[in-house]
Amino acid sequence: MNKINVKTPIVEIDGDEMTRVMWQMVKEQLLLPYLNMNLVYYDLQLKKRDETGDKITLEAAEAIKKYGVGVKCATITPNKDRMKEYNLKQEWNSPNGTIRAALDGTVFRAPILVSNVLPAVRSWKRPIHIGRHAYGDVYKNCEYRVPEAGKAELVFTNSASRELWRGTIQDFKGPGIIQGIHNTDKSIASFAKACFTYAYDQKINLWFGAKDTISKTYDAQFKKIFEQEYEANWKAKFKEAELEYFFTLIDDAIARIMKTEGGLLWACKNYDGDVMSDMLGSAYGSLAMMTSVLVSPEGYYEFEASHGTVQKHYYKYLKGEKTSSNSMALIFAWTGCLRKRGELDKTPEVVEFAKKLEEAALETVESGIMTGDLMLVATPSSKNKQASTEEFIAEVGKALQKKLK
Ligand code: NAP
Ligand code: MG
Repeated sequence: MNKINVKTPIVEIDGDEMTRVMWQMVKEQLLLPYLNMNLVYYDLQLKKRDETGDKITLEAAEAIKKYGVGVKCATITPNKDRMKEYNLKQEWNSPNGTIRAALDGTVFRAPILVSNVLPAVRSWKRPIHIGRHAYGDVYKNCEYRVPEAGKAELVFTNSASRELWRGTIQDFKGPGIIQGIHNTDKSIASFAKACFTYAYDQKINLWFGAKDTISKTYDAQFKKIFEQEYEANWKAKFKEAELEYFFTLIDDAIARIMKTEGGLLWACKNYDGDVMSDMLGSAYGSLAMMTSVLVSPEGYYEFEASHGTVQKHYYKYLKGEKTSSNSMALIFAWTGCLRKRGELDKTPEVVEFAKKLEEAALETVESGIMTGDLMLVATPSSKNKQASTEEFIAEVGKALQKKLK
């Protein structure tokens, strides 16, 4: 078989621990034998970020801006333990946070559905997609441990050095904590636009939840900007396509999500999206059964797995013990990236390859060959067989080969 040419270079961002191990296997067994790709490679394993003073993360983000489409492996966000473990110069920021801040944009996540893993929520029949605003709020905060009694204030001084506003946060009688967060109209507007565009493309309803009854200025601004975007650009289109835009309070949204059939895009503020996407992932079966893509307002795309580096499995792997880590989300990060690249390059054969690889992966799980995380939640069957990390990828490889004949 002739290899398929991928026209434009792809930005490949490598990562850490068990996902790094799986990344290599997926590439070697499922991609490189079939594709001629020009990969622009950035190694974001923690050691490399430390060595380069985290410059490499910014370079990777710049490369995505240059080439348009990238794919990223999971990476360690260091904490105190990791500082010691890797002997780091500094507790570097989350690479995802850095890349998201550089590209702005919205992270869209959707469950990977298979017939033999039923969602934990019985009413869900179709996927619930999440659109997570990827800028600001608590992820770009300024916080302080208040050591003693005193007054905390919020002050805004304009660029001409004139104080426009001052408000009391709290008159502390003793120690406590304070935090300042922000967002910008520009970023919220691009978040809204990205969500309406995604829902319209996918032909699904759009829901947005915030807490504007309590946060009458901050959350209310999100609600207002979404409404403006809807009225100005989508109302007629949505009506014609029989789609609905629905705003409700975040707690009401959560209560309703539990009762819906699914088949909608749920737009979430940054923190809500962080927390709720893990809830959805696990309710649909496993954190590894979720696709994730960062879409920037300029039309750049970064595909990734939404789960972490699966640290506990990696330590077992290092000891030479058998592991059963699920590579589905990593495989789908690559297929999402290849499909988008193929669409932009107008190379249908690349899109077709991505589709076949996804089918091969789904059919492998549906045939009963699955990793440990899915064994726990799959519909019991005598065909179910737990595969190791390596065996699962090899089985997907066999299924793919049959499809490509
Ligand atoms: P995690 O890597 O997502 O793993 C949490 C648990 O979920 C695992 O211990 C495992 O459960 C299960 N799991 C996740 N992915 C799995 C897979 N592919 N196959 C099978 N089981 C899977 O989260 P974490 O342990 O909290 O974080 C580890 C590191 O990842 C941290 O350093 C964190 O900073 C980083 N992280 C990176 C990203 C990213 O780059 N996108 C996102 C989140 C976290 P069992 O142990 O029960 O099998
Ligand atoms: Mg999270």
